[in-house]
Amino acid sequence: MSRSASNASGSVVIVGGGNAGVSIAARLRRRGVADVTIIEPRQEHVYAPLQSHIAGGVADRREVVRPQAKVTPRGVTWVRDRVVSVLPAENSVELSSGERIRYDQLIVAAGIEQRWDAIPGLQEAAASASVVSNYTLDLADAASTALRDLDSGTVVFTQAAEPASCAGVAQKPMYLACDRWRKRGVLDRIRVVFVTPESSPFHIEAVASELRRSLDAYGIETFYDATVVGVRSEASEIDIVIDGQTTTLGYDVLHASPPQAAAGWIAESGLHGDDGFVDVDRETLRHRRWDNIWALGDVAALTRIRSGGAIRSQAKIIADALTRPRRRRRYDGYSETPFTVTGRTAVFAEFDRHGRLQPSIPWWRTLYRERRFTYLMDRRVLPWVYWNLILRGRA
Ligand SMILES: Cc1cc2nc3c(=O)[nH]c(=O)nc-3n(C[C@H](O)[C@H](O)[C@H](O)COP(=O)(O)OP(=O)(O)OC[C@H]3O[C@@H](n4cnc5c(N)ncnc54)[C@H](O)[C@@H]3O)c2cc1C
Repeated sequence: MSRSASNASGSVVIVGGGNAGVSIAARLRRRGVADVTIIEPRQEHVYAPLQSHIAGGVADRREVVRPQAKVTPRGVTWVRDRVVSVLPAENSVELSSGERIRYDQLIVAAGIEQRWDAIPGLQEAAASASVVSNYTLDLADAASTALRDLDSGTVVFTQAAEPASCAGVAQKPMYLACDRWRKRGVLDRIRVVFVTPESSPFHIEAVASELRRSLDAYGIETFYDATVVGVRSEASEIDIVIDGQTTTLGYDVLHASPPQAAAGWIAESGLHGDDGFVDVDRETLRHRRWDNIWALGDVAALTRIRSGGAIRSQAKIIADALTRPRRRRRYDGYSETPFTVTGRTAVFAEFDRHGRLQPSIPWWRTLYRERRFTYLMDRRVLPWVYWNLILRGRA
């Protein structure tokens, strides 16, 4: 069966109703685009950034989830299904039901895939009580209790290699847990280990040095340039490789970040670049081979560090291109990574694609430094802005 739904502005089909898909749909509706469809299989919409706070014991699951039907902008058609392929030469997408939907403009906003099975033993280990993560809602919930109830032992936190969704946020629950253990007077009895594929806590030195203060203050043992090669949950051990040398770390709790990659159907549909993500121009967000295909969010090869903050800028570029093409706005690669370094302060990194700091309050060059203000932004203000402004196309 095929469905064709065109009008004067053309039909816009959006693959994925997460942060990026709903943001751009809402923006287009506000600009008067009449025919907008989101294809999204999930019933529930999740605000992922607060999963780190749940894992760190300072937020509740109820703050993070809303029914997809409630966040789908008024006037937008929601098709509850999954795209299995894009047929660019036919201007249509194929769904898992076999249905085809035609489009005039296609916006791919399908996020990044978590590959728990890419590290031997990790997937099985994630079913055990001692392996938790902020990368899924259930495991973030599990992290909250596992970290809270600990009085002694070893906790290993791992950060995912790029490409990943905001990889640095693996550090958020780690600092939050340490802060809590310190307040309870048990931090000295807990060995906290941080394993990262990067050679420093962050790729911008000014931010890294802020984070090193917290790593030192909490006495966190760090393993840089490290690749996780295996998890053995029956032995509660994780194997890491640094410079070809394997080290085994025992754990009481493992807070893991899964490897991440582009979904296979993107390459199978011929939309991919070298890294498997949607091959769009980094400034215009338009596909390099198909003029009526666009991509934003984690599915697009736009920035080294993917984030929700980046989507705020990206959605404006596509909305302008489709409704006010004379404006010719360009995406500068803005992205962000907030680190909650205590239960009341954060280090808030905002930067462009060249690794230059780009604070959203431009005159406040040192905004990235550890502050109470940015903690409140991350914990209180941005979640409110997300539900009330971003998902409604107002920010
Ligand atoms: C634990 C965690 C903490 C984070 N913390 C922060 C933070 O503090 N600050 C920040 O700025 N960013 C943060 N991020 C990153 C931010 O959440 C992501 O960059 C953002 O959610 C990406 O939005 P997206 O729409 O591209 O992908 P998603 O929000 O993942 O949405 C993709 C949607 O596409 C759907 N989909 C997938 N495949 C298909 C298909 N084949 N057909 C149809 N639909 C499909 C999915 O079901 C999903 O709903 C965090 C991410 C995580 C995981």
